[in-house]
Amino acid sequence: QAKRQGRNTWRRYAGGDGAEPGENVSLRRDLQEAISNDQLSLHYQPVVDATSGELRSIEALVRWHHPERGTLSPGVFIPLAEQTGQIIEIGQWILRRACSDMMALQGQGVQPIPVAVNISPLQFARPSFVANLAQVLAETGLPAHLLELELTEGVLMADADGAIASLKALRELGVHAAIDDFGTGFSSLSYLRYLPINKVKLDRSFISDMMDSRGSAAIVQGVITMAHHLSLEVVAEGIETEAQWQALRGRDCDLLQGYLFAHPMPLAQLVEKAGLSSAAS
Ligand code: C2E
Ligand code: MG
Ligand code: MG
Ligand code: MG
Repeated sequence: QAKRQGRNTWRRYAGGDGAEPGENVSLRRDLQEAISNDQLSLHYQPVVDATSGELRSIEALVRWHHPERGTLSPGVFIPLAEQTGQIIEIGQWILRRACSDMMALQGQGVQPIPVAVNISPLQFARPSFVANLAQVLAETGLPAHLLELELTEGVLMADADGAIASLKALRELGVHAAIDDFGTGFSSLSYLRYLPINKVKLDRSFISDMMDSRGSAAIVQGVITMAHHLSLEVVAEGIETEAQWQALRGRDCDLLQGYLFAHPMPLAQLVEKAGLSSAAS
């Protein structure tokens, strides 16, 4: 299982833009200063209703504005931060910032909108995670039902019972949970019925393949049907074409996310583009 985690980390690392392996040491050192020097920021990407295309929620995606290397993608630095343990501090910053961003929006008179935050398996496995989260909600004032956590199948690997207990505690708080990148892990589908979650997010790889591959299309349909039987909503990630949108709508997918609708962007830009501020009056 450790091997699987390692391979996944490597794949994400190698697939990202930016650093070569030899640069890791300096990046790690720089990451130490990223938080204190205000180099991290959150971009937000819309999730839309599959039928109407209307905005339903947003996902927070972290960016690192490196003083020399420019903007680095999380695919590069999150795995590094996981290796060094810095992910705990960074993850805490992300959670707090996402919650306070949403409260700032509400302060501007924007209609409350649910926000999804990605959580590293290491962060989720901490015994203090749920208590910490409750404290962030209390301090920022964000209602729990407006927060959704995105977790990968990796959270179940080290300690499935512990993860399920934490998910139950989250549900009691009123926080929602989604399984991200669904279908990419090797876990059995049957574990889904034990998980107190609300959503699955179908990985982008199935979406990009489904138009050409009957196998991928069958998996997409199978996941949607199964998830609905378990009363879970399905989000399809990485929608880039009209044809994909129509295909997923035809397959009864609930929610969509992808460049076809919007790229991740700074919050102020999203408010403007989505015409959210006009909802105030
Ligand atoms: P993810 O959570 O599955 O996020 C979706 C990724 O797909 C994002 O990349 C997003 O920009 C990208 N994407 C969205 N629509 C499309 C599309 O139509 N086509 C293509 N090709 N890509 C699309 P990003 O922001 O680079 O994030 C990559 C991964 O890094 C995330 O995958 C997530 O696993 C991780 N990550 C991002 N932000 C955070 C964070 O705040 N905390 C943690 N722990 N991980 C994060
Ligand atoms: Mg995600
Ligand atoms: Mg995903
Ligand atoms: Mg993905």
